[in-house]
Amino acid sequence: MFEFMLTEEQRKLVLEAAEFVKTKVPKELVLDMDEEKVKYPREYIEALAEANLLGLRFPKSLGGRGLGWAEEVTVIEEIGALGTSLGCLYSLPSIVGEAIHKFGSEYLQEKYLAPTLKGELCTAEGLTEPRGGSDFFGATTRAVRQGDHYVLNGQKRFIVGAEGADYFMVYAKTRDDAPPHESISAFIVDRGPGVEVKHVYGLMGTRGGGTGRVVFRDVKVPVENIIGEEHGASKIFYQMMVPERMTSAAGALGTARAALDVAARYSTKRKAFGKKIKDFQGVNFKIAESLTRLDAARALVYTAARAIDAGIDSGRARRYVSEAKK
Ligand SMILES: Cc1cc2nc3c(=O)[nH]c(=O)nc-3n(C[C@H](O)[C@H](O)[C@H](O)COP(=O)(O)OP(=O)(O)OC[C@H]3O[C@@H](n4cnc5c(N)ncnc54)[C@H](O)[C@@H]3O)c2cc1C
Repeated sequence: MFEFMLTEEQRKLVLEAAEFVKTKVPKELVLDMDEEKVKYPREYIEALAEANLLGLRFPKSLGGRGLGWAEEVTVIEEIGALGTSLGCLYSLPSIVGEAIHKFGSEYLQEKYLAPTLKGELCTAEGLTEPRGGSDFFGATTRAVRQGDHYVLNGQKRFIVGAEGADYFMVYAKTRDDAPPHESISAFIVDRGPGVEVKHVYGLMGTRGGGTGRVVFRDVKVPVENIIGEEHGASKIFYQMMVPERMTSAAGALGTARAALDVAARYSTKRKAFGKKIKDFQGVNFKIAESLTRLDAARALVYTAARAIDAGIDSGRARRYVSEAKK
């Protein structure tokens, strides 16, 4: 339905991603993840990197393809057909990469982003805390400067990919004598002494993706691992709403499409009252309505992606991507 909006190159990219999904992700992996036989599918991330499908928006010099959101959402939709766990894990380099690429130093880009896009390092984002996620500026995780490093203490929860992450992007409060939106900083924190993944949640739909609670106890974070300015993470947080919501929205398209495929196919097999249930108008209406809503959702995602690529201001971009995510 939407092919008419895609260029020849974009269509090729969609086929490339669909081929990856079909040939490089064994069905057993998806089933084993759902049964929690897998803690973290590192080989899947490595396969994505080998196919050069990670972080498509980032420059080629860092290992991306220098593409836009218009391209990335089409690939995320294909990957999203594998379910939320694999969709979220695919999106993490794109999400964390946004902060490192837009706000991080060259040192951070070389040390963390480039190896992430090569599949050598796995990443996760630590934003949500046990006391809640919406109230971002109420963060209680703290980082206190001591000479050439910060000492980090606190907890984050619902961290997708925590189990396998080599490093975390973490928001922490860095001062008390200023309003909340001028008191938080963002850091890259290596998995190492004082970093503990406490519990891997068996959340429905996200099992096997290594989602966990991460505890930081007196973790030494070098000053060069700060992303952007000290106390300046509000700018990063607002920008991060774009990749976080855009990737969720595009991934949900793929997941919904796969669910609809299964349901529609089932309606051609299940029989009741002497005929296949697809031959009942009531069932057809449901499928037609779902297809229409899916197309409408895709239209919104494509529009949001193109608006961001065209450089609309961040306030409007956040509004678009938030609507798209719903
Ligand atoms: C698939 C998935 C992946 C995730 N991955 C990550 C991740 O990798 N890293 C990470 O840090 N977090 C992650 N999260 C967590 C996510 O960021 C939080 O769930 C989100 O920020 C909401 O926080 P919460 O769940 O604590 O809900 P709460 O903040 O407790 O909110 C609960 C409810 O209250 C409502 N509410 C909150 N404040 C207000 C208000 N002022 N007025 C009216 N209503 C309000 C909310 O809308 C919500 O319905 C993930 C979540 C999901 C679903």
